[in-house]
Amino acid sequence: MTDRDIAPHEEPRWAPGTQILWRYRENGQDHIHICRPVTVVRDDAELLALWLASGTTCVRPVLADGRLPYEEPLATRYTAPRAVRLSPWSGPGILMLARPGQPWSVWLWWDESWRFKSWYVNLESPHSRWEGGIDSEDHFLDIDVRPDRSWEWRDEDEFAQAQQDGLMDADQARAVSAAGRDALASVVAWGSPFSDGWENWRPDPAWTVPDLPADWDRTGSARRVPSA
Ligand SMILES: [Mg+2]
Repeated sequence: MTDRDIAPHEEPRWAPGTQILWRYRENGQDHIHICRPVTVVRDDAELLALWLASGTTCVRPVLADGRLPYEEPLATRYTAPRAVRLSPWSGPGILMLARPGQPWSVWLWWDESWRFKSWYVNLESPHSRWEGGIDSEDHFLDIDVRPDRSWEWRDEDEFAQAQQDGLMDADQARAVSAAGRDALASVVAWGSPFSDGWENWRPDPAWTVPDLPADWDRTGSARRVPSA
C-alpha cells in the first residue's frame, strides 16, 4: 500500500489535547520559517481546529538584522536577507480552523478578557500532514472579517509585491485570487465556520502550553524525499 492508496478520511487523526506543530515554509523555499506549537481542538474529515496559547515559544521570520519583515520597506521586504527568531506568542491566543484541502484557514482573535474581536482569513496552500503536525505556505493575501459581518481585504500590497519578486507566478496568483473570492463568498453567505459559534469556544484549562522542540524544522517522514 502506498501513500496514494490512503484516502483522506483514513489518515490518522489527532485526539483533542494532542500537541503538534503548525508550520509554514518560506515562499519558494523548502525550509520552514514559521513554527507554532499548538494543541489540537478537533481533527476530523470536516475540520482541523488548533489552539495557539499566549506565551508559546514560536519561530518567526525576521530580517537578517533582526527587524520584523513589516519594518522593511515593501519594495525590498521579500528580497532582503532573512533569518528566523524564537519569540513568545504575544497577546491573547488564537484559534485556527482549517478544512482539509481548502486553500485558506480562518483564525479567531479575542482580547485579553475573551471579548471576541474578529476572524482573519489567511490564504495559504492546503495543509499537508506529517507525523508531527501540518505544513503550509502563506499566500500573502488575507481577509479581515468583523462580528458585524463587514470584511476587508488585507495585504494586497504584499500580494502584488510577492508576484513582482517572483515568489508566485501568474498562474499561482490567479489561483490565490480565485481562492480569495471563494473564501469571500463563504463570508458573504455567512456559512461555516463563521456561523458555528466558535467565538464562544474556550481552551481546556487543563491544557499546558506546548514546548517548541529543538528539531522544530525537521522534515516529516511524509515529506521526506530520497537523497540524490
Ligand atoms: Mg497571510
